[in-house]
Amino acid sequence: MAFVTRFAPSPTGPLHLGHAYSAILAHDMARAEGGAFLLRMEDTDLERSKPEWEALIREDIAWLDLKWDGPIHRQSDHIGAYNARLETLGPRGLLYPCSCTRGDIRAALSAPQEGVPHLVYPGTCRHRPMSDRRPGDALRLDIAKAFAALNAQALTFAETGPAHAGTHRIDAAAAKATIGDVVLGRKGENIVAYFLASAFDDADQKITHVIRGEDLFDFTPVQVILLRLFGLPVPTYHHHPLIRDDQGKRLAKRDDARAIRRYREEGATPQGIRRMVGLA
Ligand code: GLU
Repeated sequence: MAFVTRFAPSPTGPLHLGHAYSAILAHDMARAEGGAFLLRMEDTDLERSKPEWEALIREDIAWLDLKWDGPIHRQSDHIGAYNARLETLGPRGLLYPCSCTRGDIRAALSAPQEGVPHLVYPGTCRHRPMSDRRPGDALRLDIAKAFAALNAQALTFAETGPAHAGTHRIDAAAAKATIGDVVLGRKGENIVAYFLASAFDDADQKITHVIRGEDLFDFTPVQVILLRLFGLPVPTYHHHPLIRDDQGKRLAKRDDARAIRRYREEGATPQGIRRMVGLA
């Protein structure tokens, strides 16, 4: 199919107007292209994800009159497979174990980093071989070796969202400076980082167009690098603007006042919600 997209909420709270915007936009774009609209539950956070929230999400989506295609894909059903796939980077020399805390990382950085979305890891544990892995260690990607393994100075991806439309170039040197050696496996349970699980799923669900909020734009380069490392196809991305409250703050799960459930209880209609988010 030429156009396959998805809505991928985390069942950790009620859907709000921002989620409705994302789901309606993805659904409508799929239907306009004669494509498929899939539903994925990003429930790898086993503590915060609850079946009650998933049930409410399904209800809200059905009430919004958005019909998803095929069965729901639940990430919690695939954790073993994600971990097994992640481990294959070890023998390729692209992973190393890391026991640094946030405090260690801050202390090792000589100057504050500006203009990067997260602390770029200074490489303290980079010399450690995988054979030195201890329980509780995180697994980090050696980003320099990743580009070397890809034999690429730069990677590209296509974006169609209004704020960043065009072809984006991920330069190896810039990726080292701004992304760095990211954690791909979480401490403790060794569960893959959610941006990696999400990228695996986009490939496994044969997603051709990732439609999601602009807050996730900064994850895209690392997801593209990972997809390329695993030899998986890179979709086209479309990051949409976020719905904000009257003060201009983006909506969060705790903004129960704008929960779809609340609007439903107050007698709103699906068409009314479409009007509220500007997609009528
Ligand atoms: N699970 C993420 C969220 O609820 C979305 C991830 C994605 O669309 O790639 O914000």
